[in-house]
Amino acid sequence: MSQLDRRTLLKTGIGLGISLAVANQARAKEPIYLGDMHRHLWFSRLQSGEARPMGQVIADDKATLVAWALGADAPWITLGPRKYVQKSVPMPGQSFTWFKRDLARIKQHIVEQKLKAIENGNDVVAALAGVPHIVLSTEGSLFLEDDISRVQTAYKLGIRHLQLVHYTRNTVGDFQTEPPEHNGLSDFGRRVIVECNRLGILVDLAHCTERAVDQALEISKAPMIWSHSSIASGAAPNWTMVGWKARQLTLKCARRIARKGGVVGLWAWRADVGDSAESYAERLMAMADQIGEDHVGFGTDMNGDPVNDKGLMMKSYVDLRKVVDYWEKKRFVENRIRKIAIGNYARALQDAFRLQQVEKAA
Ligand SMILES: [Zn+2]
Repeated sequence: MSQLDRRTLLKTGIGLGISLAVANQARAKEPIYLGDMHRHLWFSRLQSGEARPMGQVIADDKATLVAWALGADAPWITLGPRKYVQKSVPMPGQSFTWFKRDLARIKQHIVEQKLKAIENGNDVVAALAGVPHIVLSTEGSLFLEDDISRVQTAYKLGIRHLQLVHYTRNTVGDFQTEPPEHNGLSDFGRRVIVECNRLGILVDLAHCTERAVDQALEISKAPMIWSHSSIASGAAPNWTMVGWKARQLTLKCARRIARKGGVVGLWAWRADVGDSAESYAERLMAMADQIGEDHVGFGTDMNGDPVNDKGLMMKSYVDLRKVVDYWEKKRFVENRIRKIAIGNYARALQDAFRLQQVEKAA
């Protein structure tokens, strides 16, 4: 073998080696992590041994940005024949005591599970890079009663995502499943949004009446999300409908949330989205076509226990992973999948946090 031949062979070999390395690198691309704008883990079920601890739940399939919603009115609601309804009225101070107690339990559980709660933008970046994080959030804001300073208390205790209303009459605004009493948001509710903007808390409009959504969109300086439900294809949702239909959004309203930079999450409610990962995946892609791929995401509403998850077509993040697998099989653009799977929720959080920084500097 001549000197030249050997050199050529060597070169080819090196060339081949490099291209193999590049190919391997491409194959070992960064996994697509999952974000969930809305889920629960009820301690009542944990005690019964039915629910799995959150560490395992979110490790199930690379869910790294998971909003764990504290049920702010949980002790005062019950499941009626068609929907959740209010069963009693908390005594003054009671809802705030409940909030602090349940939040302490959630935080203790997070520590025990070696998880971390999102505190700032750097944590969001870490979650996007694969480090599991919980977003401490509330479903409803009953605990505020009429004390605006409690928004800041909630922030100091770690809340970064606040859903204004749920199933109980409150001081903030109207919700979808009962007749309205505030004509949208109350004055106090408007102040809550301003305060969330100031502190850097992401506002979640889920369960709000359309009127309340419109008013919130006028006030908020940061994009807001609608964490969980879907876009109605039939009649406009109203409180006389069966629970899940009353809780959908009109396309018009979803578009308005999107136009302000917000995100709408799709829940895993079987009666609405069908029974398979494919049907869920198709529905969410259709929503992306309706309001834009930058404005939709996951909001599973999973609870991690068999009782509350009865109506859902998803039991864990293994099931949510199948949705992403389906999109990949269908060869959707990877960037589109990443945005919907986690990126859009991450962006909404960052937008809310960033606003706080701007105001701090001013
Ligand atoms: Zn809900």
